[in-house]
Amino acid sequence: MMLNTSEPSPKRMKFSQNGDDHYAKIKEERFKLPIRPVKHKLIQEVQRHPTVIIIGETGSGKTTQIPQYLYEAGVHRNSIIAITQPRKVAAITVSQRVALEKRSDIGDLVGYCVRFDDSTTEKTKIKYMTDGMLLRESILDPLMKRYSIVILDEAHERTIQTDVLFGVVKSAQRQRQRNGMRPLKVIVMSATMDVDHFSQYFNKAPVLYLEGRQFPIRVMFSKEEQSDYLFSSLVTLFQIHREAPAQEDILIFLTGQEEIESAVKSIKDISSTLMGNVPNMIVCPLYAALPPQQQLKVFQKTPKGCRKVIVSTNVAETSVTISGVRFVIDSGKVKAKIYNSRGGLDLMKVVNLSQAQAQQRCGRAGREAPGSCYRLYTEQQYDTFKKTTVPEIQRCNLASVVLQLVAMGIHDVINFDFMDKPSPEAIHTAVEQLKLLGALENNDEAKLTPAGKNMAAFPLDPRLSKVVLAAKDFECLEEILTIVSLLSVDSILFTPQNKREHALAVREKFMSSEGDHITLLNIYKAYKGVQGNKAWCQENFINQRNMRTAIDVRRQLREICVKQSLPFNTCGLDTASVRKCLVSGFFMNSAELQREGEYISLSTRKPVTIHPSSALFHCKPSYVIYNELVQTSKCYMRDLCVVDAAWLYDSAPSYFKKKKPTG
Ligand code: ADP
Ligand code: MG
Repeated sequence: MMLNTSEPSPKRMKFSQNGDDHYAKIKEERFKLPIRPVKHKLIQEVQRHPTVIIIGETGSGKTTQIPQYLYEAGVHRNSIIAITQPRKVAAITVSQRVALEKRSDIGDLVGYCVRFDDSTTEKTKIKYMTDGMLLRESILDPLMKRYSIVILDEAHERTIQTDVLFGVVKSAQRQRQRNGMRPLKVIVMSATMDVDHFSQYFNKAPVLYLEGRQFPIRVMFSKEEQSDYLFSSLVTLFQIHREAPAQEDILIFLTGQEEIESAVKSIKDISSTLMGNVPNMIVCPLYAALPPQQQLKVFQKTPKGCRKVIVSTNVAETSVTISGVRFVIDSGKVKAKIYNSRGGLDLMKVVNLSQAQAQQRCGRAGREAPGSCYRLYTEQQYDTFKKTTVPEIQRCNLASVVLQLVAMGIHDVINFDFMDKPSPEAIHTAVEQLKLLGALENNDEAKLTPAGKNMAAFPLDPRLSKVVLAAKDFECLEEILTIVSLLSVDSILFTPQNKREHALAVREKFMSSEGDHITLLNIYKAYKGVQGNKAWCQENFINQRNMRTAIDVRRQLREICVKQSLPFNTCGLDTASVRKCLVSGFFMNSAELQREGEYISLSTRKPVTIHPSSALFHCKPSYVIYNELVQTSKCYMRDLCVVDAAWLYDSAPSYFKKKKPTG
């Protein structure tokens, strides 16, 4: 607690020293970080060179300390230091940590900026942001004038946005130098990477290695191949739990939110039945969509006599550091975007890790003491894993990136200064898709149309921004804004595992036979009808926090529409207009019912299935469009909408000429 000594207190009060102890402890921790001894060398290198590459083990203090060092030394010259993160969770939690270390509130000296959530103010000098946000900003400001230092963190992850940023910062740096402007310092940070490749690309930039603190780790491979890694992870967990002393925490790597929530429930159920002398278990999920309050739980110190079990996506691989972990259980799997070159669309799929990722996961067990890593795959399987992860830019749909590059004035996308070039076919497909969406002129010049210019102004996938623009023609912008906002946030449906049936029954009344988009619209209307009443949300299993976020997103999107003078029409009960409007952006994601009662995707001609969570799960409409494909045991379509064959054809005759719907 802080004492304001300037004001006399009316009577004597007792103040606890806890707060100060807390800060003293944080200070001490900071001092002990592996990065601390090289502080001065680091500042010097950054002052001397335009670009510096820094490599250090996870937990050495790169993300939290380096911006503070540069700030304290004045290298930022009173302008802003940007630090990019591939993940929203990391940008937020790390900025909170740094704000705490600096004893400031978030949004003062230290802030974060992620899509639809900007905490920064004019006071902010240390700005953690997603790579996507910095890329978006550079559309309007390609020279990145408001920054003096840009730190590209987690470079080894090679997300599509980071890869594009590499080229963008390089070009900004060069142009600023050429124009005699204030120099732009670039720092590229990573846990591991192909140093030569990076240094070569960044004009032979010097590389600084941080001595990591890594204790020996016992690595165990499964003796047999496991058919169900989820089950195997639980068995392994309880094997360790019975034997290891309390406070030796366990980190389990799984692939996604649903899987993690179901694992957490099983773990809680099993641990509550355990007999004998075992430590109390504190089970914490960790994934991007987790409410912030619960995310913080992961970082709290494990109380005496307890054991913390963290069940995480690959966010805990390198971007956030959790203390106390002595055991890692690695499923060997990760959820990744896979490009389907034939259809030109992305697919979310659970795939094997690369060996580099497996090494990183392993390393999480040996940060503070010797640890163990249990791999739920055999050594032979490990040998078949790729050495390093293929950069996302070489395996994802590029429509969004191409639109952004063109909006920045980079028309020759094929010859853009990529560190690793995407295939010419992938760029070609993206350009064709953007032409179909009406964002690019239908010639070889890669020029934005007026609509394309407007589309680039929305922080949305081009298909969604197309839908927003098209709402003008279908006179349903209010409805479309609602749907697009609800699709842009984490699910507004809250379905606890143990009350699943009940939740579904209660929400039955919102379900529309026209699909999930209209269902979302119904829920939103009902929510507005009760003024966002909390009890109503609980009764109907609606996640109020996500709903509020959606409303905020809607407000932000609405502002962009105002700037573009779009007419705010509503179509009332005429939901067909809404569905037609959705088709104008999503005609490429369409599927057709076959005689045998199965669906095939119209772009790939491959079988697809309605996801069980969909309002249409028990219906068989002839044509649907969907938001995304997720591959598990089958290829599932998620977020579906019933459409007419004629609408599909009308929205993009040239696209369907070859693949004309047969209905
Ligand atoms: P790096 O970027 O090199 O992986 P970080 O700067 O993220 O390392 O973390 C350095 C140290 O700061 C960690 O080892 C941990 O002790 C501490 N730390 C980081 N984030 C948090 C947090 N949210 N809560 C508590 N401690 C944290
Ligand atoms: Mg880091």
